[in-house]
Amino acid sequence: MRHVAVIGSGPAGYYTAEGCAKLFGDQVLVDILDRLPVPYGLIRTGVAPDHQSIKAVSRRYEATALAENIRFVGNVTVGRDVTIAELLDLYDAVVLATGAPADRSLGIPGDDLLGVIGSAAFVGWYNGHPDFAGLKPSLHGDAVIVGAGNVALDVARILAKTADEFAGSDIVGHALDHLGDAAVGRVTILARRGPHQIAMTPKELGELGHLARAAPRVDPADLPPLDEDAALDPGTRKSVAQLRAFAGSDETKPVTIDFDFYAMPLRIEGKGRVERVIVERATTDATGQASGTGETYAIPASLVVSCIGYRTPPIDGVPYDGKLGRFANVDGRVGPGLYAVGWARRGPTGTIGTNRPDGFLIADHIAADTSDDTGKSGGAGLDRLLASRGVEVVTFGDWQKIEAAEIAAARAGSPREKFVAVEAMLAARG
Ligand code: NAP
Repeated sequence: MRHVAVIGSGPAGYYTAEGCAKLFGDQVLVDILDRLPVPYGLIRTGVAPDHQSIKAVSRRYEATALAENIRFVGNVTVGRDVTIAELLDLYDAVVLATGAPADRSLGIPGDDLLGVIGSAAFVGWYNGHPDFAGLKPSLHGDAVIVGAGNVALDVARILAKTADEFAGSDIVGHALDHLGDAAVGRVTILARRGPHQIAMTPKELGELGHLARAAPRVDPADLPPLDEDAALDPGTRKSVAQLRAFAGSDETKPVTIDFDFYAMPLRIEGKGRVERVIVERATTDATGQASGTGETYAIPASLVVSCIGYRTPPIDGVPYDGKLGRFANVDGRVGPGLYAVGWARRGPTGTIGTNRPDGFLIADHIAADTSDDTGKSGGAGLDRLLASRGVEVVTFGDWQKIEAAEIAAARAGSPREKFVAVEAMLAARG
């Protein structure tokens, strides 16, 4: 029997458990720890609430979670309730699947002003993450989004949608109410490079063209000559075709989503809170790298959301690559018995599905590096340790009760109304 602890119950964590179960059959016991009392990480609190088809992948994780040799050990914070060294003593393998829940910082003057928010916080707010429930962003006037990736698109779409357009989503009530009172007029997406360097995917970009009260605008002058699109990879070519369609449209709606290409944020200004973003016009060289031209201009803003990527917070005792913002590892191996998987291993890139081969790779490493029957006590030892410390563990059965209560509380047409406070989640276990 091998004992495996996975820290983090998001996609990378569940795919690692699935990989272990496929490889070792009933000769493995996997504990999936999470600091929240609810599972699924990024699927619950990262994927946009109006992207329910993507969120449906949690049903697959549920099938894994219900296997007899896989446990959910929720409401346990590694580093506070139990250390990595203790887990390495208890288990044959410990897998860090903690994702990348912290924002990369803009690092420009004024990025700490009130009203300047990282996407982890903004996305966590509308998705009901307990850490960000009290955010209440200013949603009046002009909003600026920094970054040209899919998270920027999520944020722009959520800001622009009407209440009716959230039908069928699981956006939390506090965000729906706050957005309902909103009067955002202009959303500007700042991309420091050009349309050919866009990190937005075509399907997600296309959604901006079908919003009830908002229309995307692209300046035709920003688009490279059409024949240069041929050199792009097929995905980027489709995204650029979408931008060309936006540039060719004369549709006007009350809210505009302006793409501002070749626009580098220089500093953020305001008295006490954000009032404007000072931007430097940029140009790209033959390799696609951006540099400033010296020409600057101001964009009014009462809200700035930086969507420029994420990093994995360090954990005491685990080798960390501060430059890359993730655990130091070689192909997922961090140290003896210690592994990293998913965004904690390779950074915040790829789709949810990218984590599947990643998780299976770690299962292969565990097979190669560890042996059967090492005498470790695994979950039984963890239970004893946590009980001795008075930690209130949440099981998968408990989560099913929490989920049933969330489903019962759903507004009409919505799959669930999430609990946003840890205490409320714990109380819902009955
Ligand atoms: P991302 O795809 O890496 O995009 C980050 C963007 O921020 C890039 O445009 C980057 O520009 C820009 N940027 C970085 N540092 C900057 C700075 N200092 N100043 C200005 N701009 C800066 O990251 P993401 O949008 O956070 O997405 C993370 C991952 O999740 C991606 O793989 C994404 O596809 C995925 N995701 C998918 C979906 C979906 O499929 N529906 C939804 C959300 C997220 P440069 O290119 O110039 O560096």
